[in-house]
Amino acid sequence: MARRTGAVCRLCRREGIKLFLKGIRCTGDKCAIERRNTPPGMHKRSRGKLSDYGLQLREKQKAKKIYGMLERQFRSFFERASKKRGVTGETLIQLLERRLDSVVYRLLFVPSRAEARQLVTHGSVLVNGRTVNIPSFQVRIGDVIQLHARETLRKRVQGNLEMLKDRPISDWLDLNRGTLEAKVVRLPGKADAGLPVEESQIVELYSK
Ligand code: SF4
Repeated sequence: MARRTGAVCRLCRREGIKLFLKGIRCTGDKCAIERRNTPPGMHKRSRGKLSDYGLQLREKQKAKKIYGMLERQFRSFFERASKKRGVTGETLIQLLERRLDSVVYRLLFVPSRAEARQLVTHGSVLVNGRTVNIPSFQVRIGDVIQLHARETLRKRVQGNLEMLKDRPISDWLDLNRGTLEAKVVRLPGKADAGLPVEESQIVELYSK
């Protein structure tokens, strides 16, 4: 699976906001945005005033970076969203949130989406009793998400849940912290995602 590599804090500095790509480090004082919130590069550039196209592009780039996706895959999510009924931007956010790697992240099994993706690709996550190693797999209402029985993995995840206990788990997912089993009780909405992204700008961009 293609994925972006390289220094991730640069991505936040490019957008000028925290995109929370590095897990625990993002909430501490080592966060690059806390230390120097300037665009990356040798020569400090101001962010200046953006054109309409520039604004739309930045919103799309933010969403892509948050979910760790490359252009082609992100575009295909948009195409799927545009073919469904409803508000395209909100449908896009819902499709992104329903990705299995995003669900694992939202359940606080791991502190970052990058680690969630790794957990999925390593075959550590089951959906309805079957191993699913595709990060973009879409969960549905009623799906049950579990972890493999390996003791070390379960201990690590229990530790992460304890460490991240201040972060809420959205109520579209019902997690049993004892068994580490979760059920999808409804589909997520824009409010559940709480993204720093204006999705209507992404729709504008791709609709040109
Ligand atoms: Fe972004 Fe996290 Fe790096 Fe801060 S620590 S700049 S939020 S990836």
